[in-house]
Amino acid sequence: MPISLPTFEESINKETCERGYDFYCEGRIKNAFRINTFEWQAIVQIFDDYNVTIRIQNNIVTKYKCNCEENTSVCKHVAAVLYFIREEGEISVTEDKAGFEEMKDSLNYLAPHVLRYLMLKYAANSKDFRKHLQDYFKSQK
Ligand SMILES: [Zn+2]
Repeated sequence: MPISLPTFEESINKETCERGYDFYCEGRIKNAFRINTFEWQAIVQIFDDYNVTIRIQNNIVTKYKCNCEENTSVCKHVAAVLYFIREEGEISVTEDKAGFEEMKDSLNYLAPHVLRYLMLKYAANSKDFRKHLQDYFKSQK
């Protein structure tokens, strides 16, 4: 069964997905970048570093590789990187990138209530920011 990026959970063992999702949320994906149009490379940092490469064409995962020893078809490291690609793959910094990576790292340590507070604070004072959030909510319906 082909793995589709938008719905990859359907093709991967549930437990593997959950572990992968935890790794993603904990900010364990380091140095994820696109090697070329179709291929991504990332390091998943747990105790050891795991090197993951994933090839995606037309939203279908056509190839994946991880250097761990797990005997599952898709390991939790690959699952973590799939979350990353799906959620953040298209995010790019268009203007000055200074401080962006550090900011991203700091975000990993924020509690949900602090995130909520910050979002509300900026939404209250920035029409642009509010518009982005509104567009996001619309796209989720
Ligand atoms: Zn692995």
